[in-house]
Amino acid sequence: MPATADVVVVGAGVQGASLAYHLAKRGKRVAVVERSGIAAGATGRSSGFVRMHYDLAVEAALAWASFPHFTNWAELVGVGDPGFVRTGFLQLADEHDAPALRANVGEQLALGIRTSVVSPAEIAELVPGIVLDGIVAGAYEPLSGYADPSGTAAGFIAAASQLGATLSAGVRATAIRTEAGRVTGLATDAGDIAAPVVVVAAGAWSAVLAATAGVTVPVEPWRHDTAYFGLPPAHPSSIPVVLDRPGAVYFRPEGRDLLLVGLETHNQLGGSPDLPVDVADPTFVEEAAERLCRRVPWMALGDVRTAHGGQDGITPDQRAILGPVGSAGPEGLWLACGFSGTGFKTAPAIGASMTEWMLDGHPATVDITPFSFARIAEGRPLEGEHPYGPLWN
Ligand SMILES: Cc1cc2nc3c(=O)[nH]c(=O)nc-3n(C[C@H](O)[C@H](O)[C@H](O)COP(=O)(O)OP(=O)(O)OC[C@H]3O[C@@H](n4cnc5c(N)ncnc54)[C@H](O)[C@@H]3O)c2cc1C
Repeated sequence: MPATADVVVVGAGVQGASLAYHLAKRGKRVAVVERSGIAAGATGRSSGFVRMHYDLAVEAALAWASFPHFTNWAELVGVGDPGFVRTGFLQLADEHDAPALRANVGEQLALGIRTSVVSPAEIAELVPGIVLDGIVAGAYEPLSGYADPSGTAAGFIAAASQLGATLSAGVRATAIRTEAGRVTGLATDAGDIAAPVVVVAAGAWSAVLAATAGVTVPVEPWRHDTAYFGLPPAHPSSIPVVLDRPGAVYFRPEGRDLLLVGLETHNQLGGSPDLPVDVADPTFVEEAAERLCRRVPWMALGDVRTAHGGQDGITPDQRAILGPVGSAGPEGLWLACGFSGTGFKTAPAIGASMTEWMLDGHPATVDITPFSFARIAEGRPLEGEHPYGPLWN
């Protein structure tokens, strides 16, 4: 572990890894401290959706600015592989969601994203055998798909290391050191690193660490189970990633033989971030199978292969907290946390934008200042321009 660094990043999830890479690319001496291993937290359990559809334009912009990393990794980053699989992405809407969906597709077209509103007949072609009870429209992105979050994080760390960054794995950050209102470094169970800047990218554990600098960050653990079902012998040869908000279920192919399934409900909030997440709630698997089969009855002949949990940090408005803590804490303390179950696909552009904010005074790739910590203290929750309501219930 180095004795000094320009910037210490706590957490080697995809966000810490992307930030470390972008900072190292700008010549900063970066030390990443990770209590376990790369992608040990949310990143390693992420469903890996890579899609642009959001109800908040700045999140769509972040996903879109990140997208070239998934499709063009070798040229942009060099080492590693994010494992991007293009399947297309489809979001379903009922009468209630359809006006917002149409308006959001309009916002996304203005950003240059390839997306369109599709009719029930077109949806039935994209997902053969789908039951469209109550579905009046969809948003379809032909270029989107899914990727490998662990591979993405590992690739960013490998590229950062080639640029001189260090990863101290198996080292737990215990406290942020401060003196006279400024960050002076990080205390860990393997000794101290002196640094003027510390970034908390510690996922569900972020609030615990920030509290050691006297900063109260409203990031709670959010637990989310996913199941893998075996595809039945007779199944459509390809389907897109599907986000079925009216059915409160999502699913996507996983390789050739499996379907990954998650629910928008059944997500436990709060408690200790150290509660085990290895085993999924048994009622979750039943519920996932039921909701899935309601939408795609051909899955009734599939089988349950495995299921497990994961956890991310969630904020009250279900949007990330990005940037310096400002007047709420010591100078030099930055936050990249509270990704609320959607922070994989946006990590490349967030790392770039955070780096610009830190080194140039303003984020240029995407203006991420709306995600600032101050919005919470000032009671300005982030809400979509054409909102669907909370993603997770
Ligand atoms: C089941 C599930 C499905 C998801 N699906 C999607 C999806 O389809 N698409 C999408 O975009 N997003 C998805 N997400 C969200 C996305 O995965 C996360 O937002 C993202 O991975 C967060 O990355 P992170 O680096 O902030 O956090 P994490 O990956 O949690 O990394 C934080 C790291 O900090 C380390 N750490 C914590 N405390 C300390 C300490 N004191 N000292 C040292 N290290 C510490 C942890 O070990 C961990 O490795 C999903 C999340 C889950 C849980």
